[in-house]
Amino acid sequence: MRLSVTDKCNLRCTYCMPAEGLKWLPKQAVMTADEIVRIVGIGVDLLGVRELRLTGGEPLVRTDLIDIIGALRERHPDLPISITTNGVGLDNKAHALKEAGLTRINVSLDSLHEETFAKLTRRPFLDKVLAGVDAAQAAGLGPIKINAVLMRGINDTEAAGLLAWALQRSHELRFIEQMPLDADHGWSRRAMITAAEIRELLSKECFLGPDPRTRDGAPAERFQVRQRDPAGSEAAGPVLGTVGIIASVTEPFCSDCRRTRITAEGKIMSCLFSREEFDLLGLLRQGADDDDLARRWQDAMWVKPRAHGMDHTGWEPKTLSSQNAA
Ligand code: SAM
Ligand code: SF4
Repeated sequence: MRLSVTDKCNLRCTYCMPAEGLKWLPKQAVMTADEIVRIVGIGVDLLGVRELRLTGGEPLVRTDLIDIIGALRERHPDLPISITTNGVGLDNKAHALKEAGLTRINVSLDSLHEETFAKLTRRPFLDKVLAGVDAAQAAGLGPIKINAVLMRGINDTEAAGLLAWALQRSHELRFIEQMPLDADHGWSRRAMITAAEIRELLSKECFLGPDPRTRDGAPAERFQVRQRDPAGSEAAGPVLGTVGIIASVTEPFCSDCRRTRITAEGKIMSCLFSREEFDLLGLLRQGADDDDLARRWQDAMWVKPRAHGMDHTGWEPKTLSSQNAA
């Protein structure tokens, strides 16, 4: 289950949010801490949710995030709980997040160069993010996954550099194909960097072999990374780590998708790209009991599309930014 705790963010990544003019949700429209705990409880106790990821927007901007994680941990001692964060402010919060019961963390990082980072995120916060990643590692929130989106002409020369940086620190880097989720509608099928290109870019610098672990519904296809032998065609030396590629656009994995998504407004999205949402929070606020909410949640998931269809040329993006989309 992926649950968005807020629509707000302190960065403005070009592939996600517009530079300005965003209208945030009114506070009363967003799930309270108690509502989040109740909704997660229904998912876990009545519907078999086995793993929770909190996201946003930027989850760390929610001031009661640590309390929410503490309350979730108290109710679900064995549930794996992770967050996906941009890492800004993580250096001050990593320890408390671990203490509250967070299992592990994903940090988004698209560039190791200050200027490129600032261009992509429209904020000069690279140092803060790097400090956040180190603090999360020190706090025991690993294994850390690093998410990177490559943008043509901006950071596509950094694929191998990001991988070397992640391998040195034992983080698992995952490249995510740019999806048409940006509020500016800047996505273009021709400009996006495909998984095939990412594999090619990385293969110039290292040898990518199949990862023997089963994929088991994971969005990323994982590869074991090794050096190349001097002749350039064979793997040499030990496995240095793994890298993942999430090819949501060109090699979709819809038939294996087991995710249920809740937006910050408590709406169920059966797919990140579905145009239909079911207002679970509205029903909860009208006084529905847990069994009723679970039944309606199940009904909402039956309409999960067989595939998002993005890999077909006639596909049109929906008019929604990813900021509220979990
Ligand atoms: N703010 C947090 C962050 O950036 O990690 C969590 C929310 S963000 C929407 C979750 C992930 O979605 C990030 O790794 C981000 O890079 C990725 N993302 C956002 N917009 C995307 C897009 N248009 N295509 C591909 N990935 C995207
Ligand atoms: Fe914010 Fe994450 Fe979107 Fe970047 S990708 S603008 S950090 S929500």
